[in-house]
Order: sequence, then structure tokens, then C-alpha cells
Amino acid sequence: MKLDSDWLTSSETKKLFAALPKGSARFVGGCVRNALLGAPVADYDVATTIAPRQVAKLLKAVGIAVHETGLAHGTLTAVVDGIVYEITTLRRDVSTDGRRATVEFTEDWAEDARRRDFTMNALYADLDGKTYDPTGQGLDDIKVRKVRFVGNAVTRIEEDYLRILRFFRFNAWYSADKAMDADGLTACRELKAGLKTLSAERVWSELKKLLSAPAPFRTVNVMSANGILETLLPEASNSEGLQLICALEKKHALTPDPYVRLMAMSARDELAMARLCKRLKMSNKEKARLIQWAGDQTDLRPGLPGKDTKIAIYTSGKQAAMDRAMIRSAGAEDPIESGAWWRLYATARDWQWPEFPVTGKDLITLGIPHGEKLGKALAALKALWIRSGFKVEKAQLLTAAQMLFKK
Ligand code: ATP
Ligand code: MG
Repeated sequence: MKLDSDWLTSSETKKLFAALPKGSARFVGGCVRNALLGAPVADYDVATTIAPRQVAKLLKAVGIAVHETGLAHGTLTAVVDGIVYEITTLRRDVSTDGRRATVEFTEDWAEDARRRDFTMNALYADLDGKTYDPTGQGLDDIKVRKVRFVGNAVTRIEEDYLRILRFFRFNAWYSADKAMDADGLTACRELKAGLKTLSAERVWSELKKLLSAPAPFRTVNVMSANGILETLLPEASNSEGLQLICALEKKHALTPDPYVRLMAMSARDELAMARLCKRLKMSNKEKARLIQWAGDQTDLRPGLPGKDTKIAIYTSGKQAAMDRAMIRSAGAEDPIESGAWWRLYATARDWQWPEFPVTGKDLITLGIPHGEKLGKALAALKALWIRSGFKVEKAQLLTAAQMLFKK
């Protein structure tokens, strides 16, 4: 099997490979797998027989930028004219504790393949596009889109419990319409308690990728039926909600959004959502969006009279209004209601957000002193402006301020 992808013949790839001894480097992992599956390639992983410090030296010598963040594990990041390559020296795992591995470098491609998670992720390609399949099963599994552990599933999961999640992630992405490998699934079910030992960052990063798959609901259903979803996401285990949101995305040709999908699987319960965000150690930005959605008490619904729709959207905030409306559109039982919520979503999305025209500075110029009074005056003017449907203009607001707040 030979690959002829653009990224194999790009000038950046040629420059990178020219810096390393001939035959010492091969593409591996997602790029080879996806090229064979005909799926888009997200990032470039390269495996090499050369020791990490030597790789760094060789690349720097030809002016390639090198970031040595993962050097202890044998990985470095090279940037060639803006294209990022993750380069990892061939490794074998010498000991593993279910979360991280102690590694030893090797020059043996087969050993490197044995420590990889799935046969379809243990395929290599050289600069000419020639593929290598050291496990002997990867190419066959790619053909039938079977996500199969390299070696014994139980052993491999016990080495790193994240592989449970990766098993479902790759199934969701590449094999969603097929039955999962039975040995793999059984092992995932039996060892699911190990998921609790993983760091929150790894779990959330992997879950996000799972939830970004085009149609992950069948996979998530299986996770649910095997008690894995509950173990991971007790607050967000409504897999039916996921199915509904996927149907809506499909109908409107939306890009999958893992946050909306997580919402669709959750109750609108601020405390439960806060717990979920904290446990998964989400970023402040992620937290803000999810909790805003869960906790928003604004009376937002289709059919509000006149300007009240805009006022409700403004009060909820653009993102929260969009999120609430989208989830309701997906979950609505009748198509008319669904359509009404969808129009509300589109209104929030397309609305040119109005800017409150008065600043604290304006009020100070009017002679309203700094401090509590200024804050109150601003809030009162803003409320007036909102109630007017964002129509009262700056001059009128300042006149009102003069009457109400100036001694
Ligand atoms: P993506 O398209 O998301 O980049 P990928 O397969 O390249 O998919 P990465 O997380 O980038 O996934 O990992 C690169 C390769 O490293 C994998 O294909 C696999 O061979 C190996 N790998 C990554 N994580 C693990 C793991 N937890 N256990 C074993 N092998 C792993
Ligand atoms: Mg990758």
C-alpha cells in the first residue's frame, strides 16, 4: 500500500527529512491512518531511530525551529516554514503505572509499534509513501475500519487507562457504523474503574475529541450501555440528548461543537455543571460558557412580544442565548416548536450586538462623582436603555442622568 498525500511531498516535509539520515524517519499515527482512511489529516507525527538530542541538533543545524518540551519522553516539536511536526524517537515502554510510562529508546520499529495503542495507529510511512505495518494487522484493520488494540486489550489498558477513552474516540471517528471489536469492548468495560485514576486534563482533552466526532452517538450509546459514560460523566450521561443534537447539526450543516453536545447530554443544573467543570479541570473560558448556559434564568423563549426577544437575548448573553435555543430546538418534540427555537437561535447569532453608549467618563464629565453613585447611575441608565429595546440614544440618556443623579 502506497500513500500519495500532499503533505508527504510538500517542501516542508522534504526539508525536514533531508535534515535526518536517510531511512531514519517515518510518519506514524494519525496522519498515516487518516490518509489510508481517506480522512482529513490533523497533525503530523514522525517516528525516528535517532536519539532526541541528536534530532534537535540535526534540525537546528539546518535552521529548523525546535521546541524541546517533551524531550524526556523522546518527543520534540519541529516547525518547518509554519508546519508543525511532532518527532518522537522510537521507544519501548519499560514500566507503566496505568497513567504514564517510563521509556527506553530503541532502533527497532516493531518495538515502537508494540507500545502504540491500536493497530491502525501503528502504521508508518516513509518519504516515498511506502507503508510499513510492523504489527501485521494494521492494514487489514484499516480496510474494515476495526479499532483493535495492539496485543492483549486487558494488558494494554492496564498500562494506560486513557486507552479506554481512545478506543471509543477512534471508534466514534472512524468506525461509528460498525460493531466494535468485542475483546476491546469487554476489556474497556471490565477495567472502567481505572478511568478514575487518570488526570483530569488527559480525560477532558480526550473526551473533547470524542465529542467532536461527526456522529458519535452510537459510540456514546455503547459507552452508556457499558457503564462507562456514567463513570466519566455522571452529570452528562443523557445519550439521547446527544443523538438529538447530532440530528439538528446534520439538518443545518453545523460544525460539531463538543460544548453544545455536552450541554445536550446534561440537565440545565448550575451546580451539577459546576461540579463537572471542576472535576474535568476545564479552562475558565470553557467553564464560563457551560455554567452560563446551565444557570441562565432569563425568560428566553420563542414568541415573546416585540422587543422582549432582543432584551432576553441581551440579558442571557449572546452565547448562552444561542446555546439555550439550540438545545431546545434539538429537544423539541414537534417540528413547529423546534423551528421556533431555531429561529430564536438564528436571531441571537445574527443580531448586531448593541453597545451601551454611556461610559463612566461621560457621567463624571456631567459632574456625577466617582464611587457608588456613579455605579448606580450607570446601572440605572443601562436598565433604561435595555427596557427601551436599545433605542434611547446617548443624548437622552445623559439628560436623564442629569435629572436623576446630579445634585
Ligand atoms: P489525531 O488525529 O487525533 O492526531 P493520533 O492517532 O495521531 O490522532 P495522537 O494523540 O496524536 O493521536 O498520538 C499519535 C500516536 O501516538 C497514536 O497514533 C498512537 O500510535 C500513539 N499514542 C498516542 N497516545 C497513546 C497512548 N495513550 N497509548 C499508546 N499509544 C499512544
Ligand atoms: Mg496525531
